[in-house]
Amino acid sequence: MNDLPRIDLRGFTSPVQFLSRLSEELDIEVWAKRDDLGSVGLAGNKVRKLEMELAHAQSLGATHIVTEGSRHSNATRAAAAAAAAIGMKCTLVLCHDEPKEPVGNLLLDALFGADLRLVGDISWVELARRTEDVVRELEDTGESVYRLPIGSATGRGATSFARAYIEADEQIRAQGSQFSTIVHASSAGSTHAGLTLGRAISQSTTRILGVIVAGEVYDDVPGNYLRLANEAAALVAPEVTIAPSDLETTEDYLGEGYGEPAAGVSEAIDLMSRLEGIVVDPVYTAKAVAAIIDMARRRTLEGPVLFWHTGGYHAIFDPNYTASIWSSLPRLRDIRL
Ligand SMILES: *Cc1c(COP(=O)(O)O)cnc(C)c1O
Repeated sequence: MNDLPRIDLRGFTSPVQFLSRLSEELDIEVWAKRDDLGSVGLAGNKVRKLEMELAHAQSLGATHIVTEGSRHSNATRAAAAAAAAIGMKCTLVLCHDEPKEPVGNLLLDALFGADLRLVGDISWVELARRTEDVVRELEDTGESVYRLPIGSATGRGATSFARAYIEADEQIRAQGSQFSTIVHASSAGSTHAGLTLGRAISQSTTRILGVIVAGEVYDDVPGNYLRLANEAAALVAPEVTIAPSDLETTEDYLGEGYGEPAAGVSEAIDLMSRLEGIVVDPVYTAKAVAAIIDMARRRTLEGPVLFWHTGGYHAIFDPNYTASIWSSLPRLRDIRL
């Protein structure tokens, strides 16, 4: 694993932290892996993948990265920030043109100096096609382009999460515990694929549950996750094969879809912030925490549990989400402004 080229974009190892007050509330030991903390572009899980992907891009002589996503995409924001930090050019092809305000990640994409191509409200398939057009256009002008797929979801990127599994395992053991279950938000799948590979390499039996937050965005979720896991295995642990039964995901906390409401999201935001001072966002991480809360209450969760905090907390400053969080929590609603 250490032979693959990697650029250190974080500068430190994100902590594994015991959440004592949430643990008491849920009557189960809960820890957090704080990948929401970091040194580049407001951090998050995409930075790990980019450490692998951008090192590879540079080894191929690329000077310009191109990727696509929604205007709210954490992956495009992280790509823009990482490109800025290492002096590569970055072009982002972004869909969904409402609302027109430059909120959240779109503001950050622009601040980090990415060239933005806003293509309106088109399908994900059409978005990928438009991105290919942009790649060809840039190549025709002599740019040396590296194309990152949506969500930076590649086998190479997923290897960073195999490494991360081993890192977190060592961290929790050093604190005298050991996790039985990992719960994380899951969309394009390299986080889940990589953690699952890390478990296989460690020959551990930890349950790893991917809480699907974008069920409708990607087709053939199990097939894609399996492909990512085995592509990653081929790169770092060719003796390992990941089987479909090694992967475990749930759509029970998806609610109305990607970025849309789901039961338990506001309680997750409420408990994490009030009891731990940790921010989770309504698009990704609050759905994973909602799963932990619900399964802990129904006693279908074996502890200690590691909540893998994949980042994205600044989505709460998107005016739509700010308003809905404020109005959903009585303790905020009752504050006189
Ligand atoms: C992208 C993202 C995920 C999902 O990661 P995948 O590896 O694409 O499944 C989870 N949480 C946050 C905050 C993300 O930005």
